[in-house]
Amino acid sequence: MAGQLPFDERPWPERRDAALQNQTMRHTIGFVTRRFTLVKQEVYRANPDIEASRTVAVGQKRKAIHDLPELLERFRTQVEEHGGHTYLAARAEDAVDIALNIARTNQVKSVIKSKSMVTEEIELNQAFGKEGIAVRETDLGEYIIQLAHEKPSHILAPAVHRNRHQVADLFQEDAAQKKIAPPHSDDIEDLTRYARERLRQEFLQADMGVTGGNFLVAETGTLVLITNEGNADMVTSLPPVLVSIVGVEKMVENWTSLQEIIQQPAMSGIGRHLSSYTTMIHAPKSSGSAEGPEQWHVILVDNGRMALRGTKFEDVLSCIRCGACLNVCPVFREVGGHAYGSVYPGPIGIVETPLLTDFQILPELPSKLCTLCHACQEACPMDISLPQHIVSLRHIVIKRHLNSGMVGWTLKTWARFWGTASGYRRSISLARVMQRFYGKRRNASGLIPGMFAGWGQTREIPQVAPQTFHEWWQDRNQKGE
Ligand code: SF4
Repeated sequence: MAGQLPFDERPWPERRDAALQNQTMRHTIGFVTRRFTLVKQEVYRANPDIEASRTVAVGQKRKAIHDLPELLERFRTQVEEHGGHTYLAARAEDAVDIALNIARTNQVKSVIKSKSMVTEEIELNQAFGKEGIAVRETDLGEYIIQLAHEKPSHILAPAVHRNRHQVADLFQEDAAQKKIAPPHSDDIEDLTRYARERLRQEFLQADMGVTGGNFLVAETGTLVLITNEGNADMVTSLPPVLVSIVGVEKMVENWTSLQEIIQQPAMSGIGRHLSSYTTMIHAPKSSGSAEGPEQWHVILVDNGRMALRGTKFEDVLSCIRCGACLNVCPVFREVGGHAYGSVYPGPIGIVETPLLTDFQILPELPSKLCTLCHACQEACPMDISLPQHIVSLRHIVIKRHLNSGMVGWTLKTWARFWGTASGYRRSISLARVMQRFYGKRRNASGLIPGMFAGWGQTREIPQVAPQTFHEWWQDRNQKGE
């Protein structure tokens, strides 16, 4: 069953032009992604043994995806035996309904969240907002984009497109609205202190915490979260109700598998040995415990994922959201994440967006936002065949969307002309006549009619040579030169 993903409805040329005109964003993203990549390369060079661990992790993750239905059952049984509740959401809207029901039952008025891409995927904040439930993002990057009313531009670093001066301006506006003291400067420490002080009260007052999940350990029914700010510890321990919303593919079989893979997101994404905080939950608060949620609900989201099992795209489900493929992608570095129009940008987004939605949204991504340079393939710690998948998706798009009678007729006519020497010569003569008619305009915008008009918007028409090589050769022979 196809899943649902939110998307930016602006057409690609509009998204592209907006990105290319935003020089600050391009500079910031280019600088940060290059930095992440350099540090990652240094860490890998300094730790040659990590490669062996990575290879083992890939094998174990592939096996976990193969055994996913069975591991899901084991995980659910474990969580429920320890007092938690589990739900399987087939589609995004099911996951939202389940979360809303839990909130209604517990008369939740305010929610605090740790970073979670799957809640972006199901548009949870918007759904809570419609119910009058206040949601506060507590990851610093997510907090910044929430204040800016933006979407994440990178799967690991959601506010990577904003520099600290822009963040300082945003916090100044926020402080003015709330009539509170603004940050002292645009120093990173001052900005972080401002966010921390704002968030502290919200942590203490929230009725419900919402997390995503980096890994699910089937063996013990444990949810594993890795963060660099410690906010997930607060989200999972302070509010009385905890809801964890996680894609089904986050499953690993046991702690041995987790041990091999847990380093990879930080190591490959930002070149650090391990994220600063690792939070593990396998039960709600038991009687006698000093902290922890009274209720723990785990919503396991399918939303198109299970349909990829058994297909040639199955390895996509091994993605650990490290962002390494985004960091090395020359297109991502130029246009940033918002230009993709999907919650999942970069090479993995190009592949996942059409696959999860059965091409219902943004089918143009594989053709428009990839140069097939293969940098993502080399960067991906999970050995996902991203470039090969992109080529396959292009084939599928062509088969599904470019098979109209008009396209078939055009290509046949073109082939008839260019399939013979005389046809080719006639087409050149025709092009010369057209060129005379349109003058020497190089920009094809507006010159090309009908379904090819879009092609002409971004291309220049080459000038037809006054004499082709064959004409020159014939001429030369006739003159006896
Ligand atoms: S596709 Fe590979 S490199 Fe890209 S985010 Fe997923 S695991 Fe990381």
